[in-house]
Amino acid sequence: MTPFYYLILFLCTSVFGCVMGAYFGTVDYRVRHDEPLITADCYCPACRHRLPLLHQIPILSWIVLKGRCRFCSEPIPVRYPLIEGGFLLFYGVSFLLLWRHPLVLAAAWYLFFTLLLLLRCQGHYRSALKGWSIFAGYHLLFSALLLILLSALSAG
Ligand SMILES: [Zn+2]
Repeated sequence: MTPFYYLILFLCTSVFGCVMGAYFGTVDYRVRHDEPLITADCYCPACRHRLPLLHQIPILSWIVLKGRCRFCSEPIPVRYPLIEGGFLLFYGVSFLLLWRHPLVLAAAWYLFFTLLLLLRCQGHYRSALKGWSIFAGYHLLFSALLLILLSALSAG
């Protein structure tokens, strides 16, 4: 595999991890507050204002908004960008270490978010299970895509 494709896949995996981190922050909050996991819009938990897409970019939006909601000025907890950054790191580093073994890589991701959900959602297992199946779905899609691309690139 040429370094260029390797770099592209590494970046895609890191971005995927970061987006999963953003979703994890939302699921974590909603599971523990008994709120629906799937909503048409993302909203500020303080003022309930619908958040435009530009306010939902992992890490960057928090920095640009200086950690406050643009509509009600309530602080946005720093744990959100930290979770997003943590996911970005974990997915990026795990790709670097395990890209030759994509199934092990996918298994590491499943283990990672399963453990996190178990740790964070104690006592809310029913909605945590719903959250888990959403994560599992996203990961299944992404891992399948990655597996196809990796085998196509190593064959070519
Ligand atoms: Zn707000």
